[in-house]
Order: sequence, then C-alpha cells, then structure tokens
Amino acid sequence: MSQREGSLEAPTRHPIPWQEDHFWDEADLNHELERVYDICHGCRRCVSLCDAFPTLFDLVDESETMEVDGVDVADYGKVVDQCYMCDLCYMTKCPYVPPHEWNIDFPHLMLRAKAQTYKKTGGRFRDNLLTSTDAMGKALTLIPLVDVTTNALNKTGLFRNALEKTLGVHRDAPLPEYHRKTLRKRFNPTGNAPQATQALEGTTGKVAFYATCYGNYTTPDLGDDFIKVFEHNNIRIELVPKEACCGMPKLELGDLDAVAKLKEKNIPVLARLVDEGFDLIAPIPSCVLMYKQELPLMFPNDPDVLKVKDAFFDPFEYLYLRHKGGQLNLDFKASLGDISYQVACHLRVQNIGNKTRDVLSLVPETAVHTIERCSGHDGTYAVKKETRDKSVKIARPVVKQVDTKQPQHFASDCPMAAVHIANLAESVDLGAHPMTLLRMAYGL
Ligand code: SF4
Ligand code: SF4
Repeated sequence: MSQREGSLEAPTRHPIPWQEDHFWDEADLNHELERVYDICHGCRRCVSLCDAFPTLFDLVDESETMEVDGVDVADYGKVVDQCYMCDLCYMTKCPYVPPHEWNIDFPHLMLRAKAQTYKKTGGRFRDNLLTSTDAMGKALTLIPLVDVTTNALNKTGLFRNALEKTLGVHRDAPLPEYHRKTLRKRFNPTGNAPQATQALEGTTGKVAFYATCYGNYTTPDLGDDFIKVFEHNNIRIELVPKEACCGMPKLELGDLDAVAKLKEKNIPVLARLVDEGFDLIAPIPSCVLMYKQELPLMFPNDPDVLKVKDAFFDPFEYLYLRHKGGQLNLDFKASLGDISYQVACHLRVQNIGNKTRDVLSLVPETAVHTIERCSGHDGTYAVKKETRDKSVKIARPVVKQVDTKQPQHFASDCPMAAVHIANLAESVDLGAHPMTLLRMAYGL
C-alpha cells in the first residue's frame, strides 16, 4: 500500500513567475536559496531522495560555521546541478510546501537557479543536444538503415569511448535506439472502435494520442499496443495530427524560452482537439506531467493551456475511469504472473493513485509488486559522464527489489527508467511498458 508522506494539507503550487523581473534577479535568487537551504539543513527529511540534499548537507557540515552562512555562495550551484526535477521532495516529503508559511518549493527554486544559469551561459553543447529530442530524432531517423547502423554503432566500445571523450556521454549508459519507421509513420488505427463513443466518468471515449519524442522515434511499437488496447475497450483512438516535444527536457535544462516556443507549437493543436471532443493521452508520464502541471504553472492565464490540462490523462488513469464506469473489457486470455513494477516519479507526483497497478491487477493470476523508488534515470542524468555513477547508486534499491523478486516481467510507465533498471538488474533482460503487458493479457 502507498504511504502518505509530506504535508497533511493539499499543496497549493504557485505559478512560476518567469515573466517577472525579480525571477531573474541573481541577488534575490541567492537570498532565497540561502533561506531554503537553511530550512532544509534543519530538516534533512529528503536526504535519501537524490544527491542534491546530501550535496547541500556536506557543504554545510564541512563549512567553518557548520551552518548555511558558512557555505560559499559560489557553491550553491553544486546543489542545483544534482536536481533533475523529479518533484518527489515537493510532493511526497516536504511539510513546508504552500499553504505553509515557509512556502518551500524546492524543485521550482532549483528551476529558477537553472534558468538563470542557462540565460547567462547558454548551457553546454552536449546538454543542448541531448535535450533537443525532437531535432535529434528527426535527424537520426533520416539516416538510411539507422535501425542497423547507428544502433549497432552505439554498442561498439570504440565509438562509445569516443562519444564519452568528445561529448561526455557515459560509455556504459544504454542509449535510445532509433527507427526509421517512426510511431507517427506506422500508427494505424483499425477504426473498429465505435465512432459514436460513450462518455462516462469524465471521459469522452475518444482519445487523441500524443506520441512524444521517445514514443515516436525510439519505441514506435508502443503505438500499436495503445491502438489494440484502447480499441478493444471501445475507445476511439487517433493520432494528434502534428506535434513537437512537450518541453520537459528543456525545462529541466532551464531553457524556458525553448519551453515557451514548444508550447506555442503544441497547445493550439491540442486545444483544437479538445474542442472537437477528444481527451488527450501520452505514453510517457513526464510528458503528461508537462501538460498537467508545468505548462499551467508557467502560463496560468492562458485559457488554451488550462483547457489542455483538464483534458490530459495518464493512459491507465483513463482505462481505470472506464473500468469504474463498467466499460473495461475484462475478458483476459493470458495471465501475467509476477510483475515488478516501478512507479515513475513523474507519475507518482500526478496524484492520481496507482492506476497502472490497479488495471494490471485485474488480470487473473497476476501479482503486481510496486516499487515506489526513483529509477535514477531522470532525463539525461543517467547518461551524462559526471552523473552516471550517482544515477546507478540511486537505482540500486529498485534493482535489488527486482532481483529479489525474480519476476516474469519488469515494467515501468517510463520507458527510459525501464531500460535503465533492466540494464542494471540480473534477473530481467527487458523492461516493458505496462500497455504492452496489458495487450499481452488480452491476447491481442
Ligand atoms: S526535485 Fe527530485 S531531484 Fe530535485 S531536489 Fe527534489 S527530490 Fe531531488
Ligand atoms: S525540501 Fe522540505 S522536507 Fe525536504 S529537506 Fe527541505 S524542508 Fe525538509
């Protein structure tokens, strides 16, 4: 059972004032960092979540005064560098989040610091490249035989050593594979779901599928799993006609202008679909969170952003709502056995409960063992040379639980986390998306 941690009151997250001058004021930021670091030093609840807090506490403990005032302001950024904005400290641990008067929003304070640094420095070439997921996907999937050549090259020691030396991409980090026939090229609904859809439990019964960069270029088969499962449940599913990256990688980098540009590309298309009666889903929790939380906090007065927010669902949340309305097909053809299931941080913080587990648990002779720990992948954290080892350390408790359980399947809604953990675990070769497992259970 999930444990309730953090503040007892529902947190009220304040909008991100990135369009106001004081957001960009360096002295004001340092003053706020000192205030919050001091509260964290007195609290220390988050010490096990990531490396940002141990870095802060080491700086304090090794300073002359052993208080935050003894830490050199120039070192404040060392804490920021270890935050990958998973949001767990805010959503699951911190008792001082608003409406508490101390008003602590650690991840968004880190975001502000990252944004100021990005504005000053323009970021590293590698980080700009790795977070340009759409441009990179487009370019790589143009290469003839990319499925064979580039993907094979990625596994070659010589190439990986060169990549580490030149770009700082760790030689052992599994890199995404790219496919010329992308999800957007192969997405082909059968049209078997009824065109006159049934609305229930806040769902319209017709969804537009936002493929996401990772889904489109790297795991294109996933689109077929979604089509099969949704149509099998009489839900009409279509592809969002045009999309760009959701902006989460750029947000984590602190490049807020890039986030705003991507928002301008995506929101009009998505808002139009909502006007046509579509609900919206995406296969990656981080992309869903971008539309449900981060963009609404960056653009709190944009009615289209808020419209898209209200229509966006996690896919298993969607299926569970249909189940509540008595419309989920329970005619399963195969059991799934033991599943070790890692709950992605960006799914946990959506506060929708554990709907993936609840849906998979409907399959007979299936036991879902949930692991509510960070995978340590976190965007680019697991692939960068300087943070790869920390990421492996963060992943260790998840890997240990998987290897102890020796499950038939290991799954995570975040495909990057799934690959990262499966690569480190001895008992599983692959990490599956839960929608793939559900399709298997239906025998589709
Ligand atoms: S948002 Fe995540 S990575 Fe950042 S400080 Fe909080 S727990 Fe650590
Ligand atoms: S973020 Fe909140 S819970 Fe975590 S160490 Fe700081 S004050 Fe404590």
